[in-house]
Amino acid sequence: MPSTDHQRFWSPVVRTLTPYVPGEQPRIDGLIKLNTNEHPLGPAPGVLAAIRDAADDSLRLYPDPDARALKEALAQLHGLQPAQVFVGNGSDEVLAHAFFGLLDHGRPVLFPDVTYSFYPVYCGLYGLTAQRIPLDDRFGVRIDDYRRDNGGIVLANPNAPTGRLLALAQIERLLESNPDSVVLIDEAYVDFGGESAVGLIGRFPQLLVVRTFSKSRSLAGLRVGYAMGHPGLIEALERVKNCFNSYPLDRLAIAAAVASVQDTGWFERSCAAVIAEREAMSARLHALGFEVLPSCANFVFARHPAHEGAALQAALRERRILVRHFKAPRIDPFLRITVGTPEHGRALDEALRAILAPG
Ligand SMILES: *Cc1c(COP(=O)(O)O)cnc(C)c1O
Repeated sequence: MPSTDHQRFWSPVVRTLTPYVPGEQPRIDGLIKLNTNEHPLGPAPGVLAAIRDAADDSLRLYPDPDARALKEALAQLHGLQPAQVFVGNGSDEVLAHAFFGLLDHGRPVLFPDVTYSFYPVYCGLYGLTAQRIPLDDRFGVRIDDYRRDNGGIVLANPNAPTGRLLALAQIERLLESNPDSVVLIDEAYVDFGGESAVGLIGRFPQLLVVRTFSKSRSLAGLRVGYAMGHPGLIEALERVKNCFNSYPLDRLAIAAAVASVQDTGWFERSCAAVIAEREAMSARLHALGFEVLPSCANFVFARHPAHEGAALQAALRERRILVRHFKAPRIDPFLRITVGTPEHGRALDEALRAILAPG
């Protein structure tokens, strides 16, 4: 902690901030890392080749500030026009620009009480009022609870850290009943079994869909995220971006991301492998006595009736397995466990058997 003496240099807003705390990125070798929802398999071979090809003398030049090649590839992938696509340095940056540029209207921003913990952080950074809407007893979103005055609605679908999916018909109902403020759907995990809201963009100019290359495309280290919506919404994001950083995506990131979009075969196979392992892992956890929420993401959210979340996390860490625990209301008993390889899954099962064994 810096001393208060140093804090006199801080701006007033910095004193009030509560920053997001990312999951641990350990510097210890040999840990099984099931704590930050990274993909267990590496990126497509073509992606690595594209980075190698792009690593040449051209790095002396700035990248395309508009990342046109990537916007075109993404537009084609989703059946949109490039003017309906915004790209940024990870979806966290895209979300930050959206909170700043599209949600600040002097009315509360609505999101679930249990969701991605970056949302309240952006509200703090940009001085927005957050209003948390409680999920139901099974951590489901009740769409009718969002029929109230708001400056914007933010839903992760599938939700994090619960993994629970909201049906597309529910999102459609929400959009029909909420025409006058932006509805932001964060689809960080949608490729692991969700139904995308992208198809609704043509009908609903207030809909912004945000995606990332970090999870299903196995490129968390590259930092690429994007948003899709009406060109008017995209223009707002471009205005914010061009007041902040003209070049959020570097040359290597643009080349790699384009290659990733083009390699549909690897993408589909690797997501299918994660989904299969998620089901196997859920069944094993269930057999060990865990309550496991039905997940449509690349992680599961589970609690054991006889063991506290924090204690289980610590015991697994002693056995060199990292999982995520949130010390927060309602979800304190739970562990969020990223789906790894089948080998990781077996190691987790063995460790939990040892931890849970009586005596
Ligand atoms: C991981 C995650 C993100 C951030 O992804 P980046 O593109 O790596 O910044 C955004 N939203 C949710 C819900 C996530 O879980």
